[in-house]
Amino acid sequence: MIDLKDKRALVTGGTRGIGKGIVLRLAEAGAKVVFTYASSESLAKALEDEAAARGYTVYGFKADAGKFSDAEASVNFTIEKLGGLDILVNNAGITRDNLLMRMSEEDFDSVLNANMKSVFNYTKLAIRPMMSQRYGKIVNITSVVGLMGNAGQANYAASKAGMIGFTKSIAKEVASRNINVNAIAPGFITTDMTDKLNDKQKEALLNIIPLKRMGNSDDIANAVLYLSSPLSDYVTGQVLTVDGGMVM
Ligand code: NAP
Repeated sequence: MIDLKDKRALVTGGTRGIGKGIVLRLAEAGAKVVFTYASSESLAKALEDEAAARGYTVYGFKADAGKFSDAEASVNFTIEKLGGLDILVNNAGITRDNLLMRMSEEDFDSVLNANMKSVFNYTKLAIRPMMSQRYGKIVNITSVVGLMGNAGQANYAASKAGMIGFTKSIAKEVASRNINVNAIAPGFITTDMTDKLNDKQKEALLNIIPLKRMGNSDDIANAVLYLSSPLSDYVTGQVLTVDGGMVM
């Protein structure tokens, strides 16, 4: 039902987990997609091959999302390969968990850089072509942790809360150019990132999730699809929580 034919999308951090789900869902809806990644060359090639086998137009591009020059190279690559940019999904992210007493300056800086500075980099670069074409959809993948905090994740929570303030500010700046900027706050989604949780931690989480299951990458990709499509044309500056009802 949602048709993204002729739309050009850039997804950061597309090789695994939620990002990979988003790449495939947007491509399935007809969009041409470039995804970035930090280091997983073989996963990037495998995703390109999987997409090609399904008849999708999907290209990988290695770029550290926290580095402005890398972000610039990937936006230029997208415009060159796809002919423009209509949809940006800021998905790349990392965790370096520790209690604040034990958290190093490096762990704080690397998380803020990968999760928050990256959103500045890509959004700043993407709004230029979007403003001139008077059309754009920007979706930022934040987290419920940015809404409610989490012991041991002060760096991650700060980066995700920062994304929310950024989303709302840029939504106000670019609304007159017909660019929608929204965020999605996933709850606990089964990916490499949450694989680190032990069974006891997973059980404790299930107890506070009314829908009684962890989410999967499709749950988030479906929300991205909505916020990338004309169905959400009158929605901007919002945070859509996709968490099985954990935060309400
Ligand atoms: P994941 O499985 O660990 O995958 C992370 C992806 O981001 C990979 O493609 C990775 O590339 C890429 N990446 C990491 N740092 C990067 C950088 N500096 N530059 C470019 N790409 C980079 O993570 P995930 O669980 O799918 O999470 C995706 C997003 O959802 C993150 O922003 C995360 O904070 C958010 N989120 C996740 C959950 C959850 O429960 N999983 C919950 C809430 C929010 P490589 O493969 O090359 O390393």
